[in-house]
Amino acid sequence: MVTPEKKSVDRSALLQSLPLREELRGQTPYGAPQLDVPIMLNVNETTYPVPDSVVDAVTAAVREAASGLNRYPDREFTDLREELAQYLNEDIARDLHGDAESSTAEPQLTAENIWAANGSNEIMQHILQAFAGPGRSVLSFPPTYSMYPLYARGTMSEYIAGARGADYVLEPEAVAAQIREHRPDVVLLCSPNNPTGTALSLDVVEAAYEAAAEGSAILVVDEAYGEFRQAGTPSALHLLPGRQRLIVSRTMSKAFALAGGRLGYLAAAPEIADALRLVRLPYHLSAVTQATSLAALRHREKLMENVERIKAQRDRIVQDLISMGLEPVSSDANFVFFGGLDDQHTAWQHLLDDGVLIRDVGIPGHLRVSAGTQEETSAFLDSLRRYVAEAR
Ligand SMILES: *Cc1c(COP(=O)(O)O)cnc(C)c1O
Repeated sequence: MVTPEKKSVDRSALLQSLPLREELRGQTPYGAPQLDVPIMLNVNETTYPVPDSVVDAVTAAVREAASGLNRYPDREFTDLREELAQYLNEDIARDLHGDAESSTAEPQLTAENIWAANGSNEIMQHILQAFAGPGRSVLSFPPTYSMYPLYARGTMSEYIAGARGADYVLEPEAVAAQIREHRPDVVLLCSPNNPTGTALSLDVVEAAYEAAAEGSAILVVDEAYGEFRQAGTPSALHLLPGRQRLIVSRTMSKAFALAGGRLGYLAAAPEIADALRLVRLPYHLSAVTQATSLAALRHREKLMENVERIKAQRDRIVQDLISMGLEPVSSDANFVFFGGLDDQHTAWQHLLDDGVLIRDVGIPGHLRVSAGTQEETSAFLDSLRRYVAEAR
């Protein structure tokens, strides 16, 4: 008989008794709270469920893959890389002329330019395994994605926290100067940035690349929220031609409403993918993951039809927060970072008591909220409005 696991046992003393690597002692794992509340706007997922037609397509694809599960999957996930290249070419074309039809005059990505893994988290791990590691360093610019120092820790790389200017802005000169000063092996830029929501203009990426190239460093632009960018904010994909050490990372976890599918990917020079082949585990993308992602990608139009709705709710959040006297940062992502709170803990708890979970990223006076459906967003705004009124 299976005995139910006791949840309340404190094993920290037992953990400390293990021969753990020194740098892991006393550390805590990544973990946004996974609480069971009606409205979850804390980890920037798409809150719309996967549409029925896509559920059917994924189910059929997984069913087909199931009879072949006795064999290892395609180690090179060739079909998936081809479809991802096609999707990114559409994204590039949309920046250039507003629709997804690309012309032959534009740079075209092929399957050779693509690498994929179990979430962009694993993509980043592959990159640091190949290009950072012991005796090497990784530079990024907090506040930014809280996993970056953890990837460095996990790959035994030194993590260097760069500085941002007022209002969290990154100026091209300041970024380039810090890269020249620290001479890191890998630079991680997040655009649109989590948690602030702001995208970088391409001149920042170009300046960072030039400074990084002087020291032969790899520059990664994490565009996990790329599909939510405002009109006129181009993707760093445009900068790939001729830049051997530039990597643009994307994910199906956010705009594709597929966080549970675990698929991240990147575009870069083909030799970058070859470098990552040296560190990936054999058959790292399961046949089920490949089938799921490919079916979802082939139905991308349906799957992504909520992106515009989510962007509208994001813009509504910004407007409403301003009207409450709070200080939201303009956002290119599917979430809004805002300040102007006396005490973010009590605000966060007030929202939770109303059944709305958002994110405290540890910056005093600030919180981050994901844009949900219209109803979810209304519930958040109504609750926060009551909080602000009571606090006055
Ligand atoms: C959510 C997020 C990701 C996505 O990670 P996956 O492993 O692909 O789910 C990557 N980068 C940033 C900055 C994120 O916020």
